[in-house]
Amino acid sequence: MKIYISSDMEGTAGVVDWTQCLHGNPEYGYYRELLQNEVNASIEGALAAGATEFLVNDSHSSMQNLKPATLAGNARYLSGKHKPMYMMQGLDSSFDAIFFVSYHGSMSSDSSVLSHTYNPRAIADIKLNGVIVSEAGLNCLVAQHYGVPVVLVTGDETTRIETEVWSPDVRAAVVKESVSRLAANSMHPVEACTLIKSKATEALNNLSAIRKPAISMPGTIEITFHNGDFAEQATWIPGTTRTGAKKVEITDSDPLNLFKRFITTVILSRTIVE
Ligand SMILES: [Zn+2]
Repeated sequence: MKIYISSDMEGTAGVVDWTQCLHGNPEYGYYRELLQNEVNASIEGALAAGATEFLVNDSHSSMQNLKPATLAGNARYLSGKHKPMYMMQGLDSSFDAIFFVSYHGSMSSDSSVLSHTYNPRAIADIKLNGVIVSEAGLNCLVAQHYGVPVVLVTGDETTRIETEVWSPDVRAAVVKESVSRLAANSMHPVEACTLIKSKATEALNNLSAIRKPAISMPGTIEITFHNGDFAEQATWIPGTTRTGAKKVEITDSDPLNLFKRFITTVILSRTIVE
């Protein structure tokens, strides 16, 4: 059994501030250890259910937050920028299950620690087929293309709710309750890891009952940016339609193409720095 793990960082128990999860800050070293422990807990839970192969795709910031030699399960480690498929780089149909570890809520969610959707400086809100969507939901487009179920998500309660929209049977390890975008009431890190491990085992023991994402196609992604410059720039990509002063729409009949066109929009948006 082969497991694909996409790891972020904002959803780790105890993390509440950008200074804790960006290279170059004194606190970062401590919090990256907490993330590493949570990733390893998910691997250990999978090992207990009989998993044998792991790929960890580091998907946070500079995408080099984990220490390869201390990854559990002899996991392969996919790190560093630039990755064309971003948070889903390396997934293919040879995998049996997907874990989203230390994920977070969307920019439009009520309160979720460090909430954003791909580019916080550019993107205010994203809808997929008319429904507010988080990074987890957008990444489900890639899972759908390869026919691999998303079986585990870890993070706060908002992360769980937003992931279940697209992967209704996903097992969730809710390791903190967000108070605001910059405050949360977290489990003790040891308890959080125990929960993640048990949810990973539970998910894989019920693998056959977990439905794969089935997002209706053709799918439409509607992006609302913070200002019109981003929307105008997005229309340089053929097929992207401006639907409002700050809004564009992308429609595609193939989930992977839809995701790729969205990622192209995100990468282009990073060229405008205010
Ligand atoms: Zn992140």
